[in-house]
Amino acid sequence: MNSQLITERLAGKGIRPTSNRILVYDALARQESPQSLKDMENLLLSMDKSSIFRVLTLFLKHDVVHAFEDGRGVMNYELCNEQGECHHHDNHVHFYCEVCGRSFCMEDVPIPSFCLPSGFRQHSVSFVIKGECPNCSSKKTKTTL
Ligand SMILES: [Zn+2]
Ligand SMILES: [Zn+2]
Ligand SMILES: [Zn+2]
Repeated sequence: MNSQLITERLAGKGIRPTSNRILVYDALARQESPQSLKDMENLLLSMDKSSIFRVLTLFLKHDVVHAFEDGRGVMNYELCNEQGECHHHDNHVHFYCEVCGRSFCMEDVPIPSFCLPSGFRQHSVSFVIKGECPNCSSKKTKTTL
């Protein structure tokens, strides 16, 4: 993704595009799967951890990214696909591979709505399925054969 496009996306979310913010956005845009802070550190070796964290926190607040806890209780970040304001906050399922430790975004698998007892008001819901990704499960089949 070129920086012109990133600048437009950030502006659409109400964020001033500084060079650090563009770098973090670009790093996330290059990845196919959601990334943890640790992953981000490895992608952005020129930036220190606290700067990355500050940008991610700002991104979260402005719906530039969405976050969810993976199978280890570690936050994972992914870019919001919507331009401008976003209202859909984490309405899909995520998958955590217990073998390789990668997280996957199941954009097409919606989280079912739950019937809560009266008096309970839902703010957000996080849904993570743990198991083996296609890559790891096919490896396993090969070694057992
Ligand atoms: Zn969104
Ligand atoms: Zn895996
Ligand atoms: Zn996702």
